[in-house]
Amino acid sequence: MREDWHDRFAETPDVLKSAQRQQTVVRVLDVEIGGDAFVTMAGPCSVETEQQLLATANHVRRAGARILRGGAFKPRSSPYSFQGHGLEGLKMLARARQETGLAIVTEVMSEEDVPLVAEYADILQIGSRNMENFELLEAAARSGRPILLKRGMVATIADMMRSAQVVLDNGNPNVIFCERGIRTFETALRNTFDVAAIALLKLVSHLPVIADPSHAAGASDLVPALARIAVAAGADGLLVEVHPNPAKAWSDGDQSLDFGGFDSMMQMIDPYVTLRSLTMAEMARRARELPAREAEAERVMEAVG
Ligand code: PEP
Ligand code: MN
Repeated sequence: MREDWHDRFAETPDVLKSAQRQQTVVRVLDVEIGGDAFVTMAGPCSVETEQQLLATANHVRRAGARILRGGAFKPRSSPYSFQGHGLEGLKMLARARQETGLAIVTEVMSEEDVPLVAEYADILQIGSRNMENFELLEAAARSGRPILLKRGMVATIADMMRSAQVVLDNGNPNVIFCERGIRTFETALRNTFDVAAIALLKLVSHLPVIADPSHAAGASDLVPALARIAVAAGADGLLVEVHPNPAKAWSDGDQSLDFGGFDSMMQMIDPYVTLRSLTMAEMARRARELPAREAEAERVMEAVG
């Protein structure tokens, strides 16, 4: 890594790669995030009914997802929109885990809810609107559950790293970054997918990085393309919204894939995932060879004088 990335992000030293810490692998149930395998987290934006959740969970598991997403506490742009089922939603998620074996990721919105959400969830999601709610971050960190940290809509990469540092400072090493698009002058899509953020975070940080193409695009027909780009950029996984009937979804229907759409997205990313594993194996091989190549370069320099 170039020395000046270290200088640029000097405020968040523990987030940066170091000789001792090249890659953090977050383990939940039998899943490793940040390891060799690409991990897809999928499910509805909101937990609506038991039937909706179980049907989705069973489907996404068969299609290759390892983690089930679903909001029980929903941060909505309008106070009049569906706010989530709260505890009932958490119980439905726990039943879906029991039935499918999928681990659960769900959002926690307030400090007071942390103990309750941590009792049911395997991973606590910190939403974009709360990325800089430091009291929430501290409480979530202290729960001991891994934290999925979504990028704030107007947060810089350094801001997001600062929030991760807060979690690490509170004794929780298991942070997963999530690039979900940011606000820019472009209005054609819901957000602007900052794919360079994925590449940069993978370069400078040891923490796993996943991408949320659903919120980045805001439109389901763009989700497969953004998912493919995320894999190519080096992401460790995806967070994708899937619904049995997106037209009837209680939230984020426009960007939710139906079951067929999810299957075809998974098929479309498959060759890119294979390529990614090859690239990663090659990178590991080069890293192992690096000391030998540096020594060789030094010998050449000395010979040249
Ligand atoms: C969500 O994942 O449904 C969500 C609300 O995401 P974000 O916080 O990225 O808007
Ligand atoms: Mn959503």
